[in-house]
Amino acid sequence: MPIYEYEAIHPAKGCKRCSRRFEVIQGLSDSPITQCPDCGRPVRKVISWCRAAVVETSEEALRVEQKIAEYEKEGMWSHAAELADKHSEKIKDQGLKLRALEDYKKAGYDADKMEKYASTDND
Ligand SMILES: [Zn+2]
Repeated sequence: MPIYEYEAIHPAKGCKRCSRRFEVIQGLSDSPITQCPDCGRPVRKVISWCRAAVVETSEEALRVEQKIAEYEKEGMWSHAAELADKHSEKIKDQGLKLRALEDYKKAGYDADKMEKYASTDND
């Protein structure tokens, strides 16, 4: 479920929770809250730069994903692997990491060495 950030409209009058920004976990269909859950004072939703960044990343991820698929289609396994590997580091995506491994294997890299490499990174 997404996390939304709120702040009090008058932070100086807020309680412990709403005197600074606080986060609320809400379903997508829930309407935004207008009052602090603790003290009932008016709050407003904060437009979060952090969320905007997430969207950007997923768009970038989509482009990278397409590029990887392209390389795979053309049998350019080491290219696909390198790109998937690099990107999986960046976005911390273990699925993509495994995909990179598969591509490394297809490219003829030492699979055992690669698996070890992946597992050390999988904390
Ligand atoms: Zn409050």
